Amino acid sequence: MSSAPTIFWFRRDLRLRDNPALLEAVDRASGSGVLPVFILDSELLSFAGPSRASYLSMTLQALNESLSGALILRAGDPTAVLVDLAREYGVTEIFATADFAPVGRRRDERTSSQIATSGISLQFFDSPYAVAPGTVVSQSGDPLKVFGAFHRRWLDRVFDAPFDLPLSPRWIAASSLSFDEILERCAHHRPAYFGDLPDDVASRVPSAGETAALKRLADFAEIVDDYATTRNLPGSDATSRLSPDLHFGTIHPRQILQTVNGSSTGRATFVAELCWRDFYADVLFHHPLSVKEALRSNMTKLRVDTDDRARERFRAWARGETGYPLVDAGMRQLLEEGWMHNRVRMVTASFLVKHLHLDWRWGARWFMWRLIDGDVASNQHGWQWTAGTGTDAAPYYRIFNPTTQAERFDPSGDFVHRFIPELRNVTAPQCLQPGAGDGLLSLSSYPTPIVDAATERIEALARYEEIKNTVSA
Ligand SMILES: Cc1cc2nc3c(=O)[nH]c(=O)nc-3n(C[C@H](O)[C@H](O)[C@H](O)COP(=O)(O)OP(=O)(O)OC[C@H]3O[C@@H](n4cnc5c(N)ncnc54)[C@H](O)[C@@H]3O)c2cc1C
Repeated sequence: MSSAPTIFWFRRDLRLRDNPALLEAVDRASGSGVLPVFILDSELLSFAGPSRASYLSMTLQALNESLSGALILRAGDPTAVLVDLAREYGVTEIFATADFAPVGRRRDERTSSQIATSGISLQFFDSPYAVAPGTVVSQSGDPLKVFGAFHRRWLDRVFDAPFDLPLSPRWIAASSLSFDEILERCAHHRPAYFGDLPDDVASRVPSAGETAALKRLADFAEIVDDYATTRNLPGSDATSRLSPDLHFGTIHPRQILQTVNGSSTGRATFVAELCWRDFYADVLFHHPLSVKEALRSNMTKLRVDTDDRARERFRAWARGETGYPLVDAGMRQLLEEGWMHNRVRMVTASFLVKHLHLDWRWGARWFMWRLIDGDVASNQHGWQWTAGTGTDAAPYYRIFNPTTQAERFDPSGDFVHRFIPELRNVTAPQCLQPGAGDGLLSLSSYPTPIVDAATERIEALARYEEIKNTVSA
């Protein structure tokens, strides 16, 4: 056993319970204490807007409370930060949860080899997923490209039970940046086509941290049996809302899988959604360039609009001013809550690609900017799925009709009414139609449709026809 303190490097595992890498750090310190450190990685946060940065800060504050105020906040090159801290406290062992996304993997490889030259070991355990990326493979050992096959192999795995809290840990505090200083150092890179789109922090975000995540899970466990029938209805609060928790690791999928374990269709459907998360992380692990490049390379030949009118349309979409009520309600939910319902993510994404003829990466970038759960694997592949460019994607020619989707999934207009105040006096089904605001005598009347969906659908199919024969099935 080491008699020296250890360092625990928090990253996407901002919790104390069910954290095997942290258990290892506490165990190896053997009573000498653990320095709990978070290092702001500006490269990782560069696609995040102020909302996700602020939610990260809230999450760190909750973590700091559970560490009795000992969380050490630093910024800069991880090697320099960790070596300085290790030298100051005589540490030779540093522990962290493994990262599997491209930027994190590169950083970890670089940091461990640089740190080793100072005689310090950096050891990785566990993963933020139920099953670590790269480990679910076909019988012949190859990566799986299709969700169905991945899901079957994934279900064959025996999932670990959640791990206990560390036993009587001793946290060592050291000099630290303040939470405000961390926020100030988040460098946000806004692309030019965002124009004057809002930069504000979403006004209605959920409470952050491990305790809040466990409460959300407990609340959701009460309704999970209905999930298969209600999950597609954005007007009823019927999904878990655990995506920001999973993103920042205030909860691990192990804990969720144990809590929702059971045989109902609702539970099985929900577990399959957790598997989608693992699937997309696995796809990213094998295809790191899919963050910015279409997985079906020939789809890059599809014509997209980039001129001034395209930019204006993009901004109308991002502000929730397309004149299509379900699309606008979703985009306004994103502005207000930093989160959007999954069904509406699909509808709004499809609208951007297939009715506005814009590059899916523009939309994905805006989502990453506003979402508090913005996650490179789930977001980029959710977009690629909708745009028909992903490995296991909806075919391009399957085009969501934004009005039919509204009639099917928000029949009473609850969701539209919640986010579009201009339409609150218009009852369903009229409030679900494009042009729903026509004739309204209000100062802030609802916009008229910026495009005609039927015409743009034909245009989308014509553009697809141009490249169809070059696209592999
Ligand atoms: C265009 C698009 C962009 C998306 N961007 C993100 C993103 O940046 N971050 C993110 O976490 N999810 C993203 N998703 C997936 C999904 O929309 C969200 O995970 C889900 O809406 C989160 O709400 P919830 O926690 O209530 O989900 P629930 O329905 O309660 O599902 C439980 C968990 O399963 C996972 N999950 C559910 N659906 C999916 C899915 N389709 N793909 C991957 N994982 C899933 C999430 O971790 C989620 O928290 C995106 C989907 C689309 C279509």
